[in-house]
Amino acid sequence: MPDNTMMNKKGMVTKIHTRIKTEPFKNNYDLVGEELGRGKFAVVKKCVEKATGKEHAAKFLRKRRKGEDCRGDILNEIAVLELAKSNPYVVALHDVYETTSELILVLECAEGGEIFNQCVADNDEAFTEKDVIRLARQILAGVAFLHRNNVVHLDLKPQNILLTSAQPLGDIRIVDFGLSRRMDSLTEVREILGTPEYVAPEILNYEPITTATDMWSIGVLTYVMLTGESPFLGEDKQETYLNISQGNVDYSQEVFEGVSSLAIDFIQSLLHTNPRKRATAEECLSHPWLSGHSPHVHTAVPPAPPMPARVPLESLDETRELESLD
Ligand code: ADP
Ligand code: MG
Repeated sequence: MPDNTMMNKKGMVTKIHTRIKTEPFKNNYDLVGEELGRGKFAVVKKCVEKATGKEHAAKFLRKRRKGEDCRGDILNEIAVLELAKSNPYVVALHDVYETTSELILVLECAEGGEIFNQCVADNDEAFTEKDVIRLARQILAGVAFLHRNNVVHLDLKPQNILLTSAQPLGDIRIVDFGLSRRMDSLTEVREILGTPEYVAPEILNYEPITTATDMWSIGVLTYVMLTGESPFLGEDKQETYLNISQGNVDYSQEVFEGVSSLAIDFIQSLLHTNPRKRATAEECLSHPWLSGHSPHVHTAVPPAPPMPARVPLESLDETRELESLD
């Protein structure tokens, strides 16, 4: 029986309740279809549970990364998923398997894929403001739950927000708790984490990380969902970091054509370089942009007919991780 506890790195949850199965994964599941996605150390594949015929997503995580034992990090990811089990907007964890080289997380399958795809889509496939309002409420409900439980996600970006279905547009599921940390009052997390474009200024400045760090990322996420453009993305990493630390954001009519002024006000309440000035998840949920009963009546700028061609964000994928500041 593998040991389910570990030494405590800063802010990591140390204990999990799920029984880790050591029998072969393939005894109970068949891998089907194509790969669902991949990150730096994980590959995610669709699978079917033999006993029930139900589809799931199996996330295969290597325990050794760059010569280091990362089992503890994966247990932390599992612990956070357990903690958020009751929240509908956090992906559900079904089963865990372990082999000599990998841990396999069997997750609820989010059939609609990453919201990233619709952020970069043009015209008819792109989100409308009404869609974004509904999805933002769900993201915030999930994140408010995490924050109430003193968990910060630290990697909120369009590749880690999935949809239960794409067409018709379903509900969101927050995934990838690989960087998540527990914020108990004594723990000061000062680490370089996250993805350049979504990373908050305090991370670049080696200042303490708080729940406000996630709120910055939600500001960036909302900007991207509404405009198809990444607010801080520069020609290179240095320029991106500079844009972030200076809080350099384009709120022009040109970028926000057809988007309400309440939406812009909402984003501005999050993209404050000073984390103490940023709205909390609960405050966001009562912001007039999200709390109104008929959100479409708030449109200030008349909606433009077809949206202008969106700026491609392919570079997002090349910058999945923040490696160094030089
Ligand atoms: P990493 O830590 O390597 O970034 P993620 O958990 O983000 O791993 O998974 C990588 C990708 O796999 C995601 O961006 C998404 O496209 C896909 N994916 C992850 N979990 C699921 C899921 N439960 N259902 C469907 N696709 C998923
Ligand atoms: Mg990811």
